[in-house]
Amino acid sequence: MRIAVVGVGVAGSYLLSRLRDQYRVDGYEMLARSRYFPICAWGTSRNMMKNFANKVGLNFEEYILHTGKELIVDLGRELHHIKLRGLCTFDKKRFEEDLLEDCEVRFGSRITSMPDGYDLVIDSTGFNRSLLPKVKNDYFIPTVEYRVKFSNPPFDDFYIKPFRELSGYLWYFPLGGNLYHVGAGDYFKRHSRTVDEFVKKYGGEVLMKIGRPVRITPPLYCQPIYMEKIVGVGESIGTVFPMLGEGIIPSLYSAEALVENLYNIERYRKTILRMFKPFGTVFEFIHRALTRNIDLKRDWFILFKIYLHMRFREERYGVQARIRDFLKVVGAARQSNIMFCEKRSSVEV
Ligand SMILES: Cc1cc2nc3c(=O)[nH]c(=O)nc-3n(C[C@H](O)[C@H](O)[C@H](O)COP(=O)(O)OP(=O)(O)OC[C@H]3O[C@@H](n4cnc5c(N)ncnc54)[C@H](O)[C@@H]3O)c2cc1C
Repeated sequence: MRIAVVGVGVAGSYLLSRLRDQYRVDGYEMLARSRYFPICAWGTSRNMMKNFANKVGLNFEEYILHTGKELIVDLGRELHHIKLRGLCTFDKKRFEEDLLEDCEVRFGSRITSMPDGYDLVIDSTGFNRSLLPKVKNDYFIPTVEYRVKFSNPPFDDFYIKPFRELSGYLWYFPLGGNLYHVGAGDYFKRHSRTVDEFVKKYGGEVLMKIGRPVRITPPLYCQPIYMEKIVGVGESIGTVFPMLGEGIIPSLYSAEALVENLYNIERYRKTILRMFKPFGTVFEFIHRALTRNIDLKRDWFILFKIYLHMRFREERYGVQARIRDFLKVVGAARQSNIMFCEKRSSVEV
């Protein structure tokens, strides 16, 4: 089988690495090699990444930049601390480069229609979804992210500040040394201003500015996920946890599902829909938050379902999931103001 992988982000580069020994696989990437940079906060769960890395002969521990102990959630009036269970940042650029070692990749090739001569063409173009038909009623969150150096870092671990209406959040992820990814995504577009205010308040030196929208429409609503010889993986088919914009591990899950069902694409579609069913529930919750505000009395059941999903997958998400944290963050975020909480008002839970 001759396979083309279009887009060598995390899903595409992983697939190239997984398939190169058994098939003739070519990669295509629209960016030039020298300009390639993964636009992402580089946060993930080390527990799961370890397994994916093992499958392609890499040792994930070598890529870890920071392992978190707690997630600091800024609720406006107080800082709420949530225990972490493996959430880390990793050098995603080097990881993807190593996945591509010995792979045939044509950088600087923007592909917009099916390339000739392949039995299967994989659309791993992320948000662009360049080969599959456009998604009707696509939902996405605009984001911006800075790489920032702080001579006096305001926090020494993962920190987030949710926006009111739960329409997104600001993140501050440690990258080791005094480097941080500070970014925000907000459906109501307050993200750029908020990141600027944060960096100004804490006196950071901005080294790089990047950003792109993140798709939060789940796979159920991203159909078709295949058409003739083209099949989608990763964010092109909506494998992003809608509440957090977390897409690395879900994209790798979808890539593995494709490897297992390479000769039966309809079975791959069914596997994806089953695997990402919980993302539909999370999307419904976020959709309610964006369109008619959350009422905890009315919407408690859907929140409880999300809680249960995460509660039994703490290793997967790298975060301890407790119902009181859920209720506290959701309840407080809805009333929180845009101001950042001062560090000294921290409340330990
Ligand atoms: C600012 C930001 C922060 C994020 N932070 C996190 C995080 O901390 N943790 C997490 O888990 N997720 C995070 N995400 C989400 C995560 O990065 C993505 O969901 C995930 O990388 C998707 O992987 P992918 O391989 O499907 O797509 P991508 O990684 O987006 O890769 C797609 C590739 O296709 C290429 N391409 C696009 N169009 C074409 C074309 N026509 N021809 C050829 N090549 C093309 C692109 O250049 C790109 O290299 C973040 C997203 C953003 C925007």
